[in-house]
Amino acid sequence: DATIWVNSRALHLGEGFVLLLVEDRTESHNLEETRRDFVANISHELKTPIGAISLLAEAVQSAADDPKQVRKFAKSLETESLRLTQLVQDIIQLSRVQSADVAGGTSEVDLQLVVAEAVDRNRVLANKKKIQLKVSTTDGIRVFGDLELLTTAAKNLIENAISYSDTESPVSISLRKKSGVAEIAIKDKGAGIATDDLDRIFERFYRVDQSRSRATGGTGLGLSLVKNIAQKHLGEVQVKSKVGAGSTFTIRIPLATAPIDATGSKK
Ligand code: ADP
Repeated sequence: DATIWVNSRALHLGEGFVLLLVEDRTESHNLEETRRDFVANISHELKTPIGAISLLAEAVQSAADDPKQVRKFAKSLETESLRLTQLVQDIIQLSRVQSADVAGGTSEVDLQLVVAEAVDRNRVLANKKKIQLKVSTTDGIRVFGDLELLTTAAKNLIENAISYSDTESPVSISLRKKSGVAEIAIKDKGAGIATDDLDRIFERFYRVDQSRSRATGGTGLGLSLVKNIAQKHLGEVQVKSKVGAGSTFTIRIPLATAPIDATGSKK
């Protein structure tokens, strides 16, 4: 056939001619596509709270004579602007972790401090749902990395465990050493996640049940951040879950005592 492919575009030459220009651009093309998807998703996600805020601002003005209505709209304005703030914070943190060089050679981080701070940041939320946070840690567990990022990862997992559990359902958080790696596990007895969704929950903006998830006020970026943070620390995050029974998310990171070679793999 008479077709030329130039930078993935086909040029038709007419019958009888064949010209092939082959260039392997798969990787850069995929990166570019991912970046474009991300920007498109962000724009879409930002439009929701921004749209709500401008509508609510109009509503406040037209309800000026009715203090009760004004208070109601003002409350919704607050909720939507908090949502917008959270979204922007998550996006900034995600791009920060994707560009950060945090693995190996950076400071040693005591994971007991990380867990304590992550638990602290969830106290208010846990109390609101009368959820007991059962914490069990071992001291002296250190990894190379970024204290704030690791705290964010643990905080996000605890926050999800609380958000996707019923009131009074306990959440267990443990920190231990296991065969050369540090392991932080967060276990809940909440909603659980269907097998089909398990592979996708770490994708940016992926949420299992839009309406239920929206009611929890999350951004759909929490687990994506956790995964990126774990990988930046040469680690991983895994999930085991059963619908109706609950979920356990486990972050594993090489211990600071294990030497790390230039390629970033543990010796
Ligand atoms: P969100 O802001 O929606 O919580 P996440 O990226 O943190 O975004 O999580 C993605 C989705 O995975 C959530 O919307 C929820 O459907 C599901 N999920 C995450 N953690 C849990 C959990 N502990 N139990 C049940 N479902 C969960």
